[in-house]
Amino acid sequence: MIGAGILKGMAVTARNFVGSYFEKERLITVQYPEERSPLPENYRNFPILIYDTDDAEAGLRCVACKICEKECPPQCIYIIKSEDKKPDYMGKPQFYPAVFDIDISVCMSCQICVEVCPFEAIKMDKVFELSTRERFDALLQRKGELSKSNTYYHSIHPIEAAEVDAKLAEAAAKKKPAAPAAPSPAGTSPKSSPT
Ligand code: SF4
Ligand code: SF4
Repeated sequence: MIGAGILKGMAVTARNFVGSYFEKERLITVQYPEERSPLPENYRNFPILIYDTDDAEAGLRCVACKICEKECPPQCIYIIKSEDKKPDYMGKPQFYPAVFDIDISVCMSCQICVEVCPFEAIKMDKVFELSTRERFDALLQRKGELSKSNTYYHSIHPIEAAEVDAKLAEAAAKKKPAAPAAPSPAGTSPKSSPT
């Protein structure tokens, strides 16, 4: 019959329209900003720098290797490497970023910086309410604003952050010097063979 498809479609629309007054699960409107839909684990917006411990300076994982700066397609990362070194989160002396800026008006949220970082130092945030009235300086995020704790990272990407923690713990365990061998019992030599 001509128009049967249109009638079926209208019936579905009418059922949903009327149902939305009586069935709560049909109410899909979210009263933003008082209500917010949960964001999926893999949602991403702009990059942030992760630090361990409670100290954003001392615990910063970034060692200013500049790989992300080189690989960023629109070149919106700007880093100045420190002159001196400080212990990193594992106690090893490392350079650190004296300056680390990201121009989020240019960033295209591609996540390439995250993928190329060998130190798990840069990750993607989920904050999207970053609009400002000004176009330039206000959209330049500096090291202080970019630095977020590992606890925060866990709160936004729990599965990914747990995997990163496990990977870092494994790498740290491999770097630990092997425990000294137990001393041989008195009177025996490790090289002597039974006769
Ligand atoms: S997400 Fe992409 S565009 Fe944005 S800073 Fe990282 S590499 Fe650059
Ligand atoms: S965020 Fe990673 S890739 Fe970028 S400079 Fe720091 S350590 Fe290097």
